[in-house]
Amino acid sequence: MLSFLAGGADGAPVNPWVALAYLVAGVFFILALRGLSSPATSRTGNRFGMVGMLIAVVTTLVTHDVANIVEIGIAILIGGSIGFVIARRIAMTAMPELVAGFHSLVGLAAVLVGWAAYLNPGAFGLLSMGDTLVIGSDGLFTFGRGISPVSKVEMGLGIAIGAITFSGSVIAFAKLSGRMSGSPILLPARHVINLGTLAAIIVLTALFAMAGPSETMPLIIALTVLAFAIGFLLIIPIGGADMPVVVSMLNSYSGWAAAAMGFTLGNTAMIITGALVGSSGAILSYIMCRAMNRSFLSVIAGGFGADDSAGGSGEAKEQRPYKQGSAADAAFMLEQAEKVIIIPGYGMAVAQAQHALREMADMLKEKGVEVKYAIHPVAGRMPGHMNVLLAEAQVPYDEVFELEDINSEFAQADVAFIIGANDVVNPAAKTDKSSPIYGMPVFDVDKAKQVFFIKRSMGGVGYAGVDNDVFYMDQTMMLLSDAKKMVEEIVKSLD
Ligand code: NDP
Repeated sequence: MLSFLAGGADGAPVNPWVALAYLVAGVFFILALRGLSSPATSRTGNRFGMVGMLIAVVTTLVTHDVANIVEIGIAILIGGSIGFVIARRIAMTAMPELVAGFHSLVGLAAVLVGWAAYLNPGAFGLLSMGDTLVIGSDGLFTFGRGISPVSKVEMGLGIAIGAITFSGSVIAFAKLSGRMSGSPILLPARHVINLGTLAAIIVLTALFAMAGPSETMPLIIALTVLAFAIGFLLIIPIGGADMPVVVSMLNSYSGWAAAAMGFTLGNTAMIITGALVGSSGAILSYIMCRAMNRSFLSVIAGGFGADDSAGGSGEAKEQRPYKQGSAADAAFMLEQAEKVIIIPGYGMAVAQAQHALREMADMLKEKGVEVKYAIHPVAGRMPGHMNVLLAEAQVPYDEVFELEDINSEFAQADVAFIIGANDVVNPAAKTDKSSPIYGMPVFDVDKAKQVFFIKRSMGGVGYAGVDNDVFYMDQTMMLLSDAKKMVEEIVKSLD
């Protein structure tokens, strides 16, 4: 095991202490993933990850022939300061697009490392004697000094995965930050175009690996351009309910891109870290697909299952009658209830209403009302978004339930209290085949005796951009206001 870990790019053995340090870093990364699997242990998990990264970076710096440590120090200082300022300033609601933005940087780094290794293979220990097939001027094949086909396959894969991660993440960033519409953009014959581009990338990688030194440049350029294009093409048709899967899938791609870079650089710590991120991201994507009732393959193939008629945002909405209430009305009815189920969504994060919400729930519990929180797997804008916010407000974990564990309880609930959620309670997901959220499991709020729906206006739609029949149900009372303001007023009334 250690000898595998100690292998450098050129196969030269590395100091076993380096291998040991990378192994310890790898163990810290595994502990980090374990810690991050529950809100209760996530802080410890984060710390494990930081320690692992520190060990990996310091080991790499002190044990490699670093050409210019001052330049590296300055680069770390600039990058670290930018990261520090962004992390301090970023609003919780902007986290998903920040993550997508960071994934794009990992992808770009993989492309740049691949190109640097191609242009200067000697510096990466990739020049091998007698490994490369060269076509001489006489037309005969000989073996010469050059980059071995195996290294070129690693390089090609690193560049291709990195470029796909980069352009895919840039589109995800634009969609999540609202710079681009969240609705799917469906090109005609997109499946043929995507499959053709993917096949061309595979063929180009094979040709690149087999080509002689003088023929590789056009192949690697074409490979890079096509990989950038396919990342873009795969993500533009994805919208509505499939975006969460894309976010975690790009997370997985960024891991594989880092692992590919690790092969090129001969750095085992990067291979281990990349593989951990890649596989955990892939598992998360699979779990989210199952929770969303989506086929994993159809999502990663670029909206394969999407109906060309799907969409819905921007359509003029008919005016339908609805009932509006006040905080005092809501407080009065909540006090009378025996069981209240709270469904938080993206708007709760925008309003930062979680603390006021917990205060309201505590008051209701004191009055003998049973209160539960229902979390949809894609509520908010990133996996676990609502869990993080509720944990921050110190909502007890035993009051928080996943969709499949609580959905059957709406029939016994007196009030379904929807705060800033929309798509995750939209019955169109069950009934309207043309809806971009069709097939996604949603909360059966219509089974509750009363539904309170907090949002700012009747005009605003959810992420998928579709109208919601729950607004117009007989038992629904719309509470039109900023979520935090409304809950604070309810708290005052309860007092
Ligand atoms: P939605 O985006 O469907 O709805 C948000 C609701 O919050 C809207 O009704 C909006 O209406 C309301 N709102 C916004 N700001 C406020 C505020 N300050 N006060 C009160 N209400 C507010 O949220 P959901 O959580 O229900 O659904 C998540 C959606 O995001 C799904 O479609 C999912 O696929 C998608 N998505 C999820 C990701 C994930 O990983 N979780 C990643 C990417 C996308 P109004 O403007 O009128 O106030």
